[in-house]
Amino acid sequence: MTDIRIGLGTDLHRLGEGLPLFIGGVFVPHYKGCIGHSDGDALIHAVCDALLGAAGMRDIGYHFPDTSDENKGRKSSEFLLGVVQMLKEAGYEIVNIDCTVHLQKPKLRDLIPEIVANMSRLMQLEEGRFSLKAKTGERIGAVGNEEAIEVVCAALIEKIF
Ligand code: MG
Repeated sequence: MTDIRIGLGTDLHRLGEGLPLFIGGVFVPHYKGCIGHSDGDALIHAVCDALLGAAGMRDIGYHFPDTSDENKGRKSSEFLLGVVQMLKEAGYEIVNIDCTVHLQKPKLRDLIPEIVANMSRLMQLEEGRFSLKAKTGERIGAVGNEEAIEVVCAALIEKIF
């Protein structure tokens, strides 16, 4: 018997000048980066929420509160490792994860293979089980005006009895 579950995760961070920009644990050279309590990695935060949602385990803010000093400036990859471990302990395996990053600049096209490789390595996923797509904000709204990065993510997990 198999128990298959789907989860949805989203995240949005404001961008500020002179801050580092991390996407999926990869440093992206840019004049703006994420404003956040941790390192502001919106892709990892959205993936964590999708995985937690699929497992019925609340959300990233519940497990890693942004009011805690322990999480200040913390690398988001540590949150992801924690979430993967929680799923594992509950008997779930990740089937696949599909994400879209909405960012006006810079273009992520050339960095996607590196981000996919890093995310797959963190979650110990086989090739092809983590997918990343990138879109601009069509020069309108918070994303289009280079004020924010937004990520949408779907995750499928399964438990085999
Ligand atoms: Mg976040």
